[in-house]
Amino acid sequence: MSATRIVLLGPPGAGKGTQAVQLAKHLGVPHLSTGDLLRDELKRGTALGLKAKTFMDRGDLVPDQVIIDMIHGRLEGTLGFVLDGFPRNIVQAQMLDKVAIIERVLHIQVPKAEVIARSIARRMCESCGRNYNLLSSPPKKEGVCDVCGGKLIQRTDDTREVVERRYQVQYENEIEGLLSFYRAKPGVLREIDGRRSVDTVFQEILRIVAN
Ligand SMILES: [Zn+2]
Repeated sequence: MSATRIVLLGPPGAGKGTQAVQLAKHLGVPHLSTGDLLRDELKRGTALGLKAKTFMDRGDLVPDQVIIDMIHGRLEGTLGFVLDGFPRNIVQAQMLDKVAIIERVLHIQVPKAEVIARSIARRMCESCGRNYNLLSSPPKKEGVCDVCGGKLIQRTDDTREVVERRYQVQYENEIEGLLSFYRAKPGVLREIDGRRSVDTVFQEILRIVAN
């Protein structure tokens, strides 16, 4: 039987979100990302959402316990989940351990230089919002959207400086602690070479969760 309680780890820009969405769909379990959870709780005006909002309105990070409670709430009545973007550090991993037994942790590895090159090559159509990547999925005509002819722009958070900072804060500073936490659990952690195509990586993920 497939593993269904899965955590994806990897640097921002490694394609983790794309893999998480595909995997969740394949397994028929929810894809849980902290951003989506927060947005959803806020939209529904739940007690947890309102609690999170008081921190966000002050410009503070939402406390780990609030995020854990949101995840916990979603686990009831499901066979599993694909967690994307959580846990971010060893403290969160320990908290998560108390509410769910994680069967597989998939670490998608992409070298720093490649993550940065990929991220700064992202472009978005300012009219229709379609995403492009000058390295992997360029538009047919430079600077112009294939679909609507709109102008392609670079998001302000995809500059080299911001991308490097995001890599350091969201990944580099915490990943070793997280890996050692999950390495201590036999058979849970698997390393995946994320330099390959989205499809190749996905096929490997399917093999890993199947046994
Ligand atoms: Zn467009």
